[in-house]
Amino acid sequence: MKVETKISKVNPLNPERDILMEAAKLIREGHLVAFPTETVYGLGANGLDEAAAAKIFEAKGRPQDNPLILHVSSIEEVEPLVESISHESEKLMDRFWPGPLTILFKRSSLIPDIITAGLDTVAIRMPSHPIAKELIRLSGVPIAAPSANTSGRPSPTLASHVIEDLYGKIHMIIDGGSTGVGLESTVLDLTGEVPIILRPGGVTLEDLQEIIPNVEEDLSIIADSEDIVPRSPGQKYRHYAPKADMIVFSGQLPNMVRAINAKAAEYIKDGKKVGIMATDETKDEYKAGIIISMGSRKRKETIAQNLFNTIRLLDGEGVDIILSEGVELSHIGTAIMNRLKKASGGKIIKV
Ligand code: AMP
Ligand code: MG
Repeated sequence: MKVETKISKVNPLNPERDILMEAAKLIREGHLVAFPTETVYGLGANGLDEAAAAKIFEAKGRPQDNPLILHVSSIEEVEPLVESISHESEKLMDRFWPGPLTILFKRSSLIPDIITAGLDTVAIRMPSHPIAKELIRLSGVPIAAPSANTSGRPSPTLASHVIEDLYGKIHMIIDGGSTGVGLESTVLDLTGEVPIILRPGGVTLEDLQEIIPNVEEDLSIIADSEDIVPRSPGQKYRHYAPKADMIVFSGQLPNMVRAINAKAAEYIKDGKKVGIMATDETKDEYKAGIIISMGSRKRKETIAQNLFNTIRLLDGEGVDIILSEGVELSHIGTAIMNRLKKASGGKIIKV
């Protein structure tokens, strides 16, 4: 169904209340609104309205078995949505909310099946972005919001990415500039014996270990092969994929640069257009291709911030193949490598 998409610019530091009131009204009426969060842009709908949530799946082309995260504006809003709140989750909410940590709880009967894809758990997060927080508060309902992209495409970190994917399919896009973290939230399962990270994100393993030392990562996050089936439904799909083919390199920096230069030369000889995802430390060492630095290796947060936009920029250049440097698997680096692995369909070359 074609709908008229209104695009409204909002100041992320001091959001214009009238625009957010209008957006909140659309949410309450069962429509879709895209808005910035501190992770990526979200595609929001009333999380207690089955028909509204169904529109998210339709607009994104999202598989029905991939559950949605509910977004709240205060810790008190969690209670009616869950069966119980453990001491552990209380400590984690106190420490990391608002922020990029999604926690799984046993769900209450208030939540429509479509949100949880029929599972008995529900994923909940309280975002810190002023626009997201105020929009949820004004809506007066939990907002179901996956990333505001077409399923499978790189997640949106700018309003222009949302426009590219969803213009004409949703009622409103709130343009609040670029998002902060640039990668989706960490998803943490606290419903089993041991806390498990199902998806790495802005809150890292090392951060979580300070509160829950026994936390583990789902095997599929750290495994080299794509053979281990992830526990989280969403993690089993090809994600964040560019239109171009993509190969990721991991290893010592000089080895990566050498291998990427060699691979680029091969592709160029075959008449292919090559894009290279480099870093500030290496960008001058590449001999050919369209070279974009994602940021400095000294501040991996910058690399996270620029990752999805870099993939979209290279797609915009019409490259046939993207060759990307990898980063070490620690702190935010684990989340960066997880997204690169998915974007490349598991094509990681160790050098
Ligand atoms: P997105 O909102 O597109 O960033 O995706 C949400 C992620 O959270 C996906 O990987 C989902 O599979 C995961 N998720 C949401 N709810 C649950 C749940 N109840 N159990 C396991 N994973 C979940
Ligand atoms: Mg997504």
